[in-house]
Amino acid sequence: MGDRCYMSVTCRRQDKERFEELGFHLEFDEDPSAPVIEMIDEEANYGQVGNMPDNIPFIAWLGGGGNYGDGKIVCDGCEYMYLAANNDGFMVDWNYRFGLPTLKSILQIRRYLKMKRRVNRMFKALPEEKPKEHLFSPHTHCCVKCGIHAEDDAVENLPCIK
Ligand SMILES: [Zn+2]
Repeated sequence: MGDRCYMSVTCRRQDKERFEELGFHLEFDEDPSAPVIEMIDEEANYGQVGNMPDNIPFIAWLGGGGNYGDGKIVCDGCEYMYLAANNDGFMVDWNYRFGLPTLKSILQIRRYLKMKRRVNRMFKALPEEKPKEHLFSPHTHCCVKCGIHAEDDAVENLPCIK
């Protein structure tokens, strides 16, 4: 255990490099045109929580025990928020006198959920990346960018690589 934890992050494809720099990688990439991706770091350092960007939208989860406990992170591009939580729910401070979570805990959770909804809406509004189309020369009938022939059987399934 120690200071290691598991982290996953849901972010825009365009921000992939930002998270790669922090040690995240794509676990699988079934749909390369999807504008939103999920990246993981199985051996994240808890210090990473403090290194997460605060100027791009993402939703992250960290778990695996350790001294700091599990948590959820959300950033809408302006605001960054970390909340102690497990996979199913949230950690709350309990008000024993009233038999309820403390107001502070309730407000924090509401704030987190509101931000998360905002980020998810932002993600849904992202356009899908269209596969690039070949540009065939009328003379050679080959793509002027990648060289594939217009009558090549592979043309229909392969987007242009250039
Ligand atoms: Zn091409």
